[in-house]
Parts: sequence; structure tokens; C-alpha cells
Amino acid sequence: MRKTKLVMTLGPALLDGDKLREALKEADSVRLNASHGDLEGRAEGLRQVRALSEELGRVIPVFLDLQGPKWRVGKLEMPLELSEGSEGVFFPEGTTPPTSGMAWLAPLPHPELFEAAEMGQRWLLDDGALEVEIIAKAPEKVRVKVTRGGLLKARKGIHPIGINLRMDPLTEKDHVDIRWGVEHGVDLFAQSFVRKASDVQQLQAIIQHLGGSQPVIAKIEHPSALAHLEEILDVSWGVMVARGDLGVELGVERVPGLQKQIIKAARRSLKPVITATQMLESMIDHPQPTRAEASDVANAIWDGTDAVMLSAESASGSYPVEAVQWLARIAAEADANHKQRVRPLMEDLPESVLGRTDISVAFAACRTAEEINARWLVAFTEGGGTARMVSRLAGRTPVLGATTDPITARRMGLLRGVTPMLIPRVQSTDEMVEVVRELLLAKHELMAMDRVVMTMGLPLWKTGTTNTMKVMTF
Ligand code: PGA
Ligand code: MN
Repeated sequence: MRKTKLVMTLGPALLDGDKLREALKEADSVRLNASHGDLEGRAEGLRQVRALSEELGRVIPVFLDLQGPKWRVGKLEMPLELSEGSEGVFFPEGTTPPTSGMAWLAPLPHPELFEAAEMGQRWLLDDGALEVEIIAKAPEKVRVKVTRGGLLKARKGIHPIGINLRMDPLTEKDHVDIRWGVEHGVDLFAQSFVRKASDVQQLQAIIQHLGGSQPVIAKIEHPSALAHLEEILDVSWGVMVARGDLGVELGVERVPGLQKQIIKAARRSLKPVITATQMLESMIDHPQPTRAEASDVANAIWDGTDAVMLSAESASGSYPVEAVQWLARIAAEADANHKQRVRPLMEDLPESVLGRTDISVAFAACRTAEEINARWLVAFTEGGGTARMVSRLAGRTPVLGATTDPITARRMGLLRGVTPMLIPRVQSTDEMVEVVRELLLAKHELMAMDRVVMTMGLPLWKTGTTNTMKVMTF
């Protein structure tokens, strides 16, 4: 049974024919990327995901990934060929392109970049694939020479090297997207280019102000976020190892080590973590992954990630369904070879999390489940906190996250090893046990004499009260 969760980014490639339905048979979560597409298209995509999840009987959390403070090239009608040594001009988006006799012209929707531009400054384009150097500047025009050439597509990122220009943690566009996400009931938000804990708290406050209750996944992709990782983890629901921009900001060679560091820190804080970007990059154009990609996915899993994510592979590649299926196959195999024991997982936790009733009970349940070889560890959880904790510590025991709240159920869908289950609101623990027994039997997930360990909070249905463990033999 696969424990690692699969996230796929929605995009035109999946919205073609029957592809979304096929992909949702394997994928566990969907990312809506606010950096691309328009609001109508996004609403239609979300509608289709919700309808298909219902039809397929799958619990699929959907999160909206905010673009955040990142500079991007403006809209282009066609990709531009920036050949090495050629000279081109960036001009303000929305103004008439200058007549210049240049090899190429590209619009830029960021007035502050025209101000900050200086002779000799270098800009990385498209996550560092291309590089230009500024050779002249006028108030509304930046002339550059291409020092690393390639094809420049619309809306690709721009990263000026060595300038410390601060953008607000949430842009005007982000505010529009946050409102959209709350109104359309996405299950979580992901926040790009988080630098410190207060960035996350600011987003959280805005969501609440708009009447939403969505938690925030902080994307770790800025050097400052690494310096403040512990505080960011404290205030976030979970984090993402955002390897694309992490590689741009800190160097591609540092990504493997940083990935391990971030995953470890997340697990020690008992928070979920998604590993993202270029997991099956070659599958954008090929129906099979490379050996290196298969190894990379498996190693992220052995590092302890909850979920692995597809970006362009599923959003705009030629083989979106195949990419999800390969990811599932590689993850299942890696999970089968991942022998986690409960005691070392617990010993790895910092002193600060010990001494809490809910954690001690959760740990006792995990250890008991391992020792008696329980078929399931059932966490009754209203807010999902217990399931999140138990998913860190359960080792090989599969976890059932049982809740009466459909939104909590969906959020649990991102947790490694956790199967969310929606149950009716009953009045006694006996009824609760019976409900779970029947649901598991109906799914053929229980056999006679199977043992099941349960954690719950008494009195029933109060969040944050996990204080009881029960062992049943069915
Ligand atoms: P992005 O984030 O795809 O939104 O840029 C992930 C990353 O940077 O790796
Ligand atoms: Mn990014």
C-alpha cells in the first residue's frame, strides 16, 4: 500500500479529454497555481476536480499556491529566442514597445525593477536557465546583453543578482487570489517566498478576516526562510521544499542538502512537508522517467517527505497521466523499502514537544500499534491535529484519520500514511468503534481477529483533547 501522497499541479495538459479523471485515480491532492491562468479557468478546473473526486469517491485536498513576491517577464505572444551575445530591451508592460533595432523586446510588469537596474547588473531568467547583463539603462528601458542564451517564454521568473529590493510579502495579485480562494472554498493555501514567520501570520490573518479558515503551507525557497525555519514551522500548517526557486536563490548544488535539512526540521516540529519541482522533469516530453528521477523521488521519500509534487509534468507536459502513474509506482516501491520504527522517530523529537498529553498518547498508540502488529491505527480527530501528529510517528502502521468534518478529512489527504475517513457524528465511543468497524469491513480493509488501535479525546467531539487510547480485536 502506498503511503506517500502525490500532488499534481492542474493545468491545460490535464484539462484535455479524460486525462483529469485518469490522473485523479492516483493523485491525492491538486495544486492550483496562481502564477498561471485566469480566474475563470481556475474556477472551472476546481469545479471539475470537485466533481470528479465525488464521482471517484476520493478525498482530494485542493490548495491554491499564491504567486507571492516574484518578478516575472510579462506576457509574450510567442516565446523569444535569446541567442547568446544578442542585445535586447525590457520595457514597461502596457506601454508601446520602443523602436530600437534590437534583436528582441520583452515587456516587464514591475516598475521597481526599472528603478533598481544598474549597469553591469546580471539578471537570471527562467530559474537561471538564461542570463542577461545590463549594458544601458534609461528611465523606462533596460538594455541587456544575453550572456546565457535560450528560449524565453512568457511569465518566466526574473531574478536580479545581488540587489536587495524588498517586495511586500503579499502582492496586489495575491490579495485578489486569497479572496478568490476563500470564496471558492479551497482547502489550504501555499505561500511563496515566505521570509519569516510574520509573513505567514499576515496571510493567516487576511484569510480569517475574509471569513476563511484555510491553513497555510509555507514554501521554503528564499534564503531568509532558511534562517527562520523553526519559527516559520511553528506558525505554519506545513511546509514545501520548493526546489525550483531554492536552487535559483542558493545554488542547485545545495538543493539536496537543504531538502534533507528542511524535511528533518518539519518532522521534528510534527508538521507535514511536500517536496516539489523537477521530480519527473523529463516526463514533460517523454513517456518514461529517467533513472535519476526515479532515484530522486525515492530519496525524497526516504528523507521523510509526506508528499511529492508534479509541476509542469502534469500542468503543461505531454504525458500528465503517465507522470502521475509513474510517480505512484516509484513511491509505492520506495514506501515498501522504507522500514521506519516508532522508537527512533520519537527519539528524534526535540525536548520542547515532550510533556504534552496529546503527543504522549499519540506516541503510546503508535508504539502499541507497532508492537501488536495492528492492522490500523485509527485517530479520531476533529481538527486533524492528532492525525498530523500520528502520521509523523506511526512508522509502518497505516493510519485512519476519522472525522465528522469534510474539510478536515480533505486536509488529512496530504499526510503520509493517513487515509481520511468521514464518519457520522455519534454519541458514544461504542458507536464510534462500531461505525469504523463497519466502514472498514465494507472496504474489505479488516479481517477477523485484526487488531486496531484507536486514539480519541473524551469528552467526544472537542478539538485538541486527545487523551485516550483503546485497543480492539475485531
Ligand atoms: P513554484 O514553486 O512552482 O510556484 O515556483 C515551487 C518551487 O519554486 O520549487
Ligand atoms: Mn517557487
